[in-house]
This record gives sequence, structure tokens and C-alpha cells, in this order.
Amino acid sequence: MIIILLGPPGAGKGTQAERLMRECGYIQLSTGDIFRAAVEEGTKLGQKVKAIMDAGKLIDDATILEVIRERLMASDTNAGVILDGFPRTLVQAEALDAMLADMQRAVDRVIEMRVDETQLAERILKRATESGDSRSDDNMEVLQKRLAVYHENTAPIIPYYRERGKLSVVDGMASIDKVASSIRSILDAEEAKCP
Ligand code: AMP
Repeated sequence: MIIILLGPPGAGKGTQAERLMRECGYIQLSTGDIFRAAVEEGTKLGQKVKAIMDAGKLIDDATILEVIRERLMASDTNAGVILDGFPRTLVQAEALDAMLADMQRAVDRVIEMRVDETQLAERILKRATESGDSRSDDNMEVLQKRLAVYHENTAPIIPYYRERGKLSVVDGMASIDKVASSIRSILDAEEAKCP
């Protein structure tokens, strides 16, 4: 089972992905987390992407795809994978489909977490003050940039999945529990019941 959580920064993708991981035994693949860990560890990859992440820009598709390919091959992904923060461009979405086809797999469901963007700033700033490990890209200026990048590069993948009959939409402004139960109903309909 391969599920994609889609939505602008602050939509709650990470929170829902962690929950599905905890409750359903799925593996969460968050490209943001992977790259933040690389920055933290000071690896070559981390050094390469730090300034890009801090500016709220996108890391190039080739770098992202290399990391995803490795993770998808290496992980024990049989129970299910939740992709959080990937794909973020049409090139990435198409490459993911090709990569999965090679593995005789496919994206099962894409869940768009729709949010009121005027309220996003509040959420992001709250995350910045509450989070123990604060993110260097959680501030107003970078948020505006990340939202612009979302609209320009990531939103176009929504019709890509809609046309393929893979898109479901949930109200990302509802409570964490409500969003989680909407996601669970969508997955139940896919016969991907949480054990
Ligand atoms: P996130 O935690 O998903 O918001 O990602 C944080 C940052 O990591 C983004 O603002 C980008 O700089 C980078 N990043 C994460 N995932 C991707 C991706 N799929 N494509 C390009 N850049 C990404």
C-alpha cells in the first residue's frame, strides 16, 4: 500500500503520517525529515541542501529521486508506505510512477489535506514555538516562500492524480482526530484496513 499525503506546509502531513505509522504499522517516508537529518549529521548531502531548505526552495529532482529510490528499495515496505513531502513536482510524480512500475508496485491513494492558508501561518508559528527541535525554515518569511513554491510546483500534481482516479480530499482544518478518522475511512475503502 503506497499512500501520498499532499498539502501545503503546515497542513499536518507529518502529524497524520506519524499516526498512521504508529497505528497501522506503515513506514513513513518524509523527504523533509531525511534531509533535515542529513543537515544535522553534517553529511555531504546535508551540506549541499542546507541553504536551499533554509530559503524554502526545492531541492533538485535528481537528488530527491535518488534518495527515494534508495529508501523504497531498502525499506521493508510491505506493510505500507506513507510518502510525506514527496512528490513535490510533476517530474517527481512521473518518476515515482515509473520507479514503482519497475518494482511492480503503484501509488494506491493520494490524500490531499486541504487547508485555509490564512490560518496556516498561525499553525507554523505555533509549531516553531512548541517544537523542541525547532526548524530553521519555520518563520514567516520562509513560509511565504514555501507557500509560493507549493502553488507553483506542487499544486499542479493534484490534477495529475485526480485524472488517474487516485485523489481523495480531506478537510485539513478539522481536529487531528477528525482528519485521522477521515483518512482511515478512505484507506478502509481501499481495503487497506489498519490492522
Ligand atoms: P518538509 O519538511 O516536507 O516541509 O520539507 C522541508 C524542505 O525540504 C522543503 O522546503 C524543501 O527545501 C526540502 N524538500 C523536502 N521534500 C522535497 C521534495 N520532494 N522536493 C524538493 N525539495 C524537498
